[in-house]
Amino acid sequence: MPTDTFKFSAPVTADILIVEDEPKMAELLETYLTAAGYASRWISDGREALPQVRSRIPDLILLDIMLPGCDGWQICRELREFSDVPILMLSARIGEEDRLRGLELGADDYICKTPFSPREIVARVKAMLRRQRSVTALPSALSIDEDLHCASIDGVTLNLTPQEYRLLKALAAMPGRVFSRDQLLDKLHDDYRPVTDRAVDSHIKNLRRKLEPYFDGRNVIHAIYGVGYKFEIIEP
Ligand code: CA
Repeated sequence: MPTDTFKFSAPVTADILIVEDEPKMAELLETYLTAAGYASRWISDGREALPQVRSRIPDLILLDIMLPGCDGWQICRELREFSDVPILMLSARIGEEDRLRGLELGADDYICKTPFSPREIVARVKAMLRRQRSVTALPSALSIDEDLHCASIDGVTLNLTPQEYRLLKALAAMPGRVFSRDQLLDKLHDDYRPVTDRAVDSHIKNLRRKLEPYFDGRNVIHAIYGVGYKFEIIEP
């Protein structure tokens, strides 16, 4: 059976994205997270949040609510359209309504910044990552079975549409190689179909959502601005 198996190694340390416009708080958080053994990135403008996440899915996001550019509510809502990455919302406010709003938008936890306790935030981060780890398995191998037209990770068959399977097969066969939307469009169907490159984007979006749980919430299909997509597992 012509089955190609691509081996991947599992990520080791967690990558935390801090979205916080107060430099002192962000700096303190980074110091504490580093001390706890985590890698962190910090951005202060809300508009940078989604591009940051898209370029590399973090293991967890510390998300402030009042931000310049785009507030934490909006970021949370838009993030949940394509990612299940754990979100810990940070706010100066304590109202129950805010807490509920955050949870309804898909935030996993909520912490009050007054009084500001980076130690407590790090403890919360640890607990959330532990919870995450216990529910998502880390794959060691992705297999493409060309006879059965299916893909599996560690023996678990992925529930993919024929188009998603074709895209994954093409991308994963050459990790790191960038494919244009036109090239990927060609892979979608054997026969001619009047499809637009928008179709590629929407299949990729669904494929990412299906793959993420197997890669610890990490995105493995990266958009290259103005070009297309590549499959790559980026270690934190
Ligand atoms: Ca703020």
